[in-house]
Amino acid sequence: MPLYPLFADLNDRHVLVVGGGDVAARKTAMLLKAGAKVTVGAPVLAPELREWVQQGRIIYKSGAYQPDWLDGTWLVIAATRSRPLNARIAADGHVRQRLVNVVDDPALSSFQVPALIDRSPLLVAISSHGAAPMLVRRLRERIESLLDPALGSLLQLAQRYRARIRARHTDHTQHRRFYDWLHDGPVHALLRAAQPLHAERQLVAALADRAVPKATGSIALVGAGPGDPGLLTLRALRALNEADVILHDALISEPILDLARRDALRITVGKRGGGTHTPQASIHALMLEHARAGQRVVRLKGGDPFVFGRGGEELEFLRAHNVSYEVVPGITAALACAAYSGVPLTHRDHAQSVRLVTAHCGQSLNTLDWSELARERQTLAIYMGVGQLDELTQELIAHGRGGDTPFALIENGTLPQQRTLTGKLGDLPALATRHAISAPALLILGEVAAQADAAHWYGELLGDPPQHLAYLRTLADAA
Ligand code: SAH
Repeated sequence: MPLYPLFADLNDRHVLVVGGGDVAARKTAMLLKAGAKVTVGAPVLAPELREWVQQGRIIYKSGAYQPDWLDGTWLVIAATRSRPLNARIAADGHVRQRLVNVVDDPALSSFQVPALIDRSPLLVAISSHGAAPMLVRRLRERIESLLDPALGSLLQLAQRYRARIRARHTDHTQHRRFYDWLHDGPVHALLRAAQPLHAERQLVAALADRAVPKATGSIALVGAGPGDPGLLTLRALRALNEADVILHDALISEPILDLARRDALRITVGKRGGGTHTPQASIHALMLEHARAGQRVVRLKGGDPFVFGRGGEELEFLRAHNVSYEVVPGITAALACAAYSGVPLTHRDHAQSVRLVTAHCGQSLNTLDWSELARERQTLAIYMGVGQLDELTQELIAHGRGGDTPFALIENGTLPQQRTLTGKLGDLPALATRHAISAPALLILGEVAAQADAAHWYGELLGDPPQHLAYLRTLADAA
C-alpha cells in the first residue's frame, strides 16, 4: 500500500521518544523545532539530551521502558538499539492506536519520517517508504541546492501580507500575477541580497498601487569558474536554473551551459576563437534590452567576474541605468589552476604574498612595475600572458628575478585537456614554444611552482627531463 502523506501539527502535543542516544537526540531536536512537548525515556541520556532536561526543554523518564510512558502521547518514536524492544514499543503503541515510527525500520513503523528540505514555511518532504534511501538522499541534495535559502523569508513575508494582497488584488489573474512578481521580482532579489527591510518596503509600495507591478528584469553577474562544472557555486547553479537569458563568454564550456534552464535564450558574447569580438558597448546594450523586457538575465563570465573580467564596468553601466543586479563570485583561474596542478599559492617558507597580474597587450606590460614583480618570496599568477612570454621573462630577469625561479604554466586548467608545463624561468619561452602552449593558460611563477612536479594530480605534466613524461618516452623509445 502506498503511504498517506501527512504534515503533522505537533505544537504543544505530547510525543514520546524512547532511547537516549544520538539518534534519539536528533529526532528530539526535530520535534522540539515543531513545538512538540517531548518526553524522552531511557536508562541513560546522551549529553545533549541531558542538557535539554536540565534546561527544562524536555521531560525525562529514567529507567527501562514502561508501557505507561505511552499514556497521553500523540506520536511515538522508538530509537533504541534493540530490535525486540523497538518491536514491543511499536506493538504497545499500536494497541493504543498511537502512530509509531521505529527509526530505520519501516516494517515495524506505522509512520515514516521523510527526508526534508526546510525553507519554512515551505517544507519539501521525500519518502521512498524505505525502498531507496540512497536515491532519497541524492534527491534531497539536488532539491536543497535548487531552492535558495532566501525562499523561506520570502514565504514568511508573503504569509504576513497574504490578507492585504488578497484585498488588493481580488481578480484571480491579477492575484496570480502579483505572486509571480513577488517570486521573480525585486522583493525576492532583495531578500537574496540580505536586505529584508528594503524588501518589505518594496512590497508595501507595490501594494499601494492598484496595478500589479510590471515585471522588472534583473541581472546576475555570475562567475562560471575556470571550466570544470563541478567548480560552479550553488548560487551560480541556481541563477542558471532561473535564467531567461544567458549572455555568456565564448570560452564558457558546454557542460556548464548544459546546466542552464533548457529554454533559456543563450547569446555568445566576447571574444571567439576565430577572433570576432563583441564590443563591450554591445554587451551593455544586450543586458539592458533584455532586463528592460522584464527578463532574468545571467551575464556568465569565465572565472570570477571581478578578476580581469570587466565586471566592474558592467556594474557601473547597470547602476547608471537603474537596473538591479546581483554578483555571484566564481573561482578565478589562478586559484583553480594552482589547485589542479598541486601548487599552493602561498607557503610559510616560500611565499608570503600572491599577485594576480595581467599581461594582456604590449601596452599593459609597459605599465607593470617590474622591480616589484621581480621580488623573491612572492608568487605571481599571470593571466593572458601566453603571447608575451618572451618579454615577460626578459623583464623579470632584467629586474633581478633569478633565471632558475620555478614556473608552472597551466593550459586549459581544470578541463580534461589540462596540460601543466613546469621548468625554470630562463627556459620558459623556449619550453612553451616547444610544447605549443596556447590560450587559455595561466602562468604561476615563484618558489612554490616547484611543488607542481611532485604534487601535480590533474591532467598531463610536461617539462624537461627528468620529468615524468619525457622520461617515460625515453624508456619507450629504448624498448
Ligand atoms: N575572469 C577570469 C579571467 C579572465 S582573463 C578569471 O577570473 O579567471 C582570461 C585569462 O584567464 C586567460 O587568458 C587565462 O590566462 C586565464 N584563464 C581563464 N580560464 C583558464 C583556464 N581554464 N586555464 C588556464 N587559464 C585560464
